[in-house]
Amino acid sequence: MTVKITIDGQEVNARAGDNIVDVAAQNGVYIPTLCYTRGKPCLGTCRTCSVKVNGSVMAACTIPVREGMEIDVNGDEITDMRKALVELLFAEGNHNCPSCEKSGRCELQATGYEVKMMVSRFPYRFTPHPVDHASRSIWLERDRCIFCQRCVDFVRDKETNQKIFSINGRGTYARIEIDVELANKMPADQVREAAELCPVGCIIDKTQGYDVPIGKRKFEVKSIRERALGGGHR
Ligand code: SF4
Ligand code: SF4
Repeated sequence: MTVKITIDGQEVNARAGDNIVDVAAQNGVYIPTLCYTRGKPCLGTCRTCSVKVNGSVMAACTIPVREGMEIDVNGDEITDMRKALVELLFAEGNHNCPSCEKSGRCELQATGYEVKMMVSRFPYRFTPHPVDHASRSIWLERDRCIFCQRCVDFVRDKETNQKIFSINGRGTYARIEIDVELANKMPADQVREAAELCPVGCIIDKTQGYDVPIGKRKFEVKSIRERALGGGHR
């Protein structure tokens, strides 16, 4: 069924039930996301895709379109709200892009550019997050985790379907954990996929690093906005 909605005042037709992020992209309007990635179920954890729907702030990836919806993506207030959310993610972790293996391929870094972030308006917390290098092929650089839950939900043991990653604790004490025994069974291609799936440089594949020269890295070749509007972030 087709419904009529407006996005930033423009009337568009959409398939009922599609989420707002996808419908906006189909109509050339970019909404940043860090947990949602097209083709995977919505997680709704990062809120970076916040928009106003009929005046209320909602996470666009979690909302299916319905007849008559009025969606504000690029109004000043909601644009600044999304920017503040990205700034919070930088303030909560410890990010040092120039030395990070994911630099140039990192969705958080690329989104920071898209929302025109220069520096976080929030105080940096500098919470220590110990690294975990116990598994044979994965290095967990916890300073950079944004708790999107992609790895938790989408990376599973191929034989048993058990989760390999989990989040332990809450708030400041939350940390991403890895089941070392299951991680050690992961084939090389699954390790690589997990490192790619992580939107930041938290899951690092120990067998590769800094492979692509500066200037040719993923988001330097094609921005995250172009990728999102072209049918996917990754
Ligand atoms: S994870 Fe992304 S934002 Fe964080 S240091 Fe690495 S490149 Fe920078
Ligand atoms: S390790 Fe990466 S994929 Fe997993 S929750 Fe943290 S940021 Fe998300």
